[in-house]
Amino acid sequence: MPTPPVQLEEVDGRNCLPSIFLVTSTQLQLQCEIPSLSSQWAGSVVGNIIQSFNKLQPSKMVYLNEPEVWVDLTPDSAGRKSKSLIEPFIEGTYRKFNSNTAHIDNNYDTMQALSHYSYHKSDGQRLVCDLQGGYYNDYYVLTDPVVCSLSQEFGVTDLGAKGIENFFAHHQCNHRCQSHWKKPEAPMRRFAPVSATTFRRPC
Ligand SMILES: [Zn+2]
Repeated sequence: MPTPPVQLEEVDGRNCLPSIFLVTSTQLQLQCEIPSLSSQWAGSVVGNIIQSFNKLQPSKMVYLNEPEVWVDLTPDSAGRKSKSLIEPFIEGTYRKFNSNTAHIDNNYDTMQALSHYSYHKSDGQRLVCDLQGGYYNDYYVLTDPVVCSLSQEFGVTDLGAKGIENFFAHHQCNHRCQSHWKKPEAPMRRFAPVSATTFRRPC
């Protein structure tokens, strides 16, 4: 049996993990140490894949929240100005469509197809998963996605090749997936699916 990765609370700034809390009615602040951004941020990769996916005319358009760094105008006693990662507030019910251990909500076909498509579009190099956010009449808004990659370059939530294999061992293609989309030859269950984001054990 494979060893499951450490399951940390998502609210844990010590590991530079985004912990989401309400700042105002219109914004969420991601409490995250800025150096964590040194590992490649998944957003730009995911944004490109979503853009391409939207051209396939899914039932609902998909948008991605992009965080930005805000600097506090008032310095602390040592003259330092704190920084925060801010992104727009997700209105309505916050939903988890899938996770990086392939906890999959099959009520959202478009989301599962998007994850599958990301693997196809990246020629088998990457899987966009941990899809979560808002679901509305005409569109989805996603936040804080995970990229699992063969090169494992996207930080502590990138479960690498095992994460990719595991997703496809649990994924069932739906009518929004296209039959020619690439899939791993021998997907294998590597992790027990849990809805919370899973983080790799530190080396
Ligand atoms: Zn599929």
